[in-house]
Amino acid sequence: MDAQTEFDRLSGKYYLSGGYRTSATDKRVPVINPATGSAIAELAHVTIAEVDEVVAAANAAQREWWAMSALERSELLHEAARTMKAIAPEVAEIMTRETGKPYKEGVDELSWSYTATDYYAELGRHSVGSNLGSTVRGQMHYTSKEPMGVVVIILPANFPIVLLMWEAAAALAAGNAVIVKPSEFSSMTTLTFMRAFDALPPGVFQCVTGGGEVGAHLVSHRDTHMVGFTGSVPTGRAIARACADMFKPYLIEASGNDPFIVMPSADLVTAARGVTFAAFINCGQVCTSAERIYVHTDIYDEFAELVVAEVAKLRIGNGLDRVDIGPMEHAGERDRVERILARAIEQGARVAHGGKRPSDLPEELAGGCFLEPTVLIDVTPDMDILHGEIFGPVAPLCRVASFDEAVGLANASEFGLGANIYTADIVEMDRAARELVAGMVWVNAPLLDNAAGPFGGRKMSGIGRQLGQEGLDTFRHTKLVMIDYVQSDQDFWWFPYSDAEAFPTNPTT
Ligand code: NAD
Repeated sequence: MDAQTEFDRLSGKYYLSGGYRTSATDKRVPVINPATGSAIAELAHVTIAEVDEVVAAANAAQREWWAMSALERSELLHEAARTMKAIAPEVAEIMTRETGKPYKEGVDELSWSYTATDYYAELGRHSVGSNLGSTVRGQMHYTSKEPMGVVVIILPANFPIVLLMWEAAAALAAGNAVIVKPSEFSSMTTLTFMRAFDALPPGVFQCVTGGGEVGAHLVSHRDTHMVGFTGSVPTGRAIARACADMFKPYLIEASGNDPFIVMPSADLVTAARGVTFAAFINCGQVCTSAERIYVHTDIYDEFAELVVAEVAKLRIGNGLDRVDIGPMEHAGERDRVERILARAIEQGARVAHGGKRPSDLPEELAGGCFLEPTVLIDVTPDMDILHGEIFGPVAPLCRVASFDEAVGLANASEFGLGANIYTADIVEMDRAARELVAGMVWVNAPLLDNAAGPFGGRKMSGIGRQLGQEGLDTFRHTKLVMIDYVQSDQDFWWFPYSDAEAFPTNPTT
């Protein structure tokens, strides 16, 4: 597949009932390759009528999907997973050209997507409710798990496929239809990926493109039944409010500013490699990026030198070349991170490495949104950079005097997504696991995921869980069923009440 031919094919399209349609909208915007600054495609902000058509198709398809046996759904999801694997190189190339991330990271993303899909294909048919001990002799009491109906998934651009599949695989396995509204900055990647679901009944998995207004219409639509949102806090709040008006269930995966603690007992070389990866994978545009690096004072200077040496090895450039770091998603994001950097320097932080736009890139990348991976030292707890999400290639190193101070500062955040610690001390490992207020704690294992275990945040990082058993239940209702097969009288509590059970007569009246 030639990538530009694919971009041309997908321009102006959305995905309805198993096929690509050209939107009738007059609102089309260019899609820019962030490595080169060139326009590569056109994104349609689809019309409200087109969204309504997609929602109607989803509701019809969902009934058919839920009517199938659990085994049939499982087999079709496994088939989708196999297709994802087959098309992974093509999708990853489109992803790199559209979002800038290194090709290898795109391929990884696809692999996490098909393994999650295979996982939920089995879990969805394995766990469908439970048999309860009844409270009445001879009766059958049980719970059954039922789909929500039509699930809307709204996404950011940083992991367009894996964030989609961590939710969609569970939602589909639970018997829902899914409508995805990808980010304006990764919609071509999602559109090309839709081929993976050719085996599913048309309408079970669809994609509409556009911005906030398309997303908001899907959220408040009376014929959609659940929203899975990943993105910023303000948008998450707006979605939670809109859902609250309708008592519509939602999952919110929002921002993070994860701490990364390094203690003197750690293997400092490994920890330096670990933090370099945790801070700069996908150019730091990861919700669980290491953004507040608390280093014990006894090893601070040595560790800072090791980190600078590691970061100096990173190759920056076009994600289709042999590089470790690509550009940021778009120019607006680079400008935002440059402002955060300037403020930190103004407040007294020192640049130990990077800190500017690279000057030695080839001519064809001159229009790209590159920013050097940057290490900041002499960062103090009061600085603004430690109190908001960076979401870019900056690693601020803050000195701490003790484990207690590190954990205290780590928890002094409005966010609570992930948290990391490097230590060889088993007591510190145990205390960190218990005391860090976060959805995930990584001890010497930064940023790992496991489809079988729940992922999500606390505090302003979000509400609800994806992945694991919890992530399946996120997308389904539990129904309680009680059956008396023989229609017996239930006089142990029916009318008429016996005199013996009436309020005892008061002898004084
Ligand atoms: P964003 O909130 O600007 O946009 C996310 C999506 O919401 C986009 O598809 C956008 O079109 C849509 N949207 C915007 N307004 C809407 C509205 N009113 N109603 C419905 N949809 C609307 O986020 P972003 O800047 O694209 O993403 C970056 C953020 O995502 C970062 O804060 C990052 O931490 C977060 N993130 C979180 C996780 C997680 O799992 N917790 C994972 C990845 C990214």
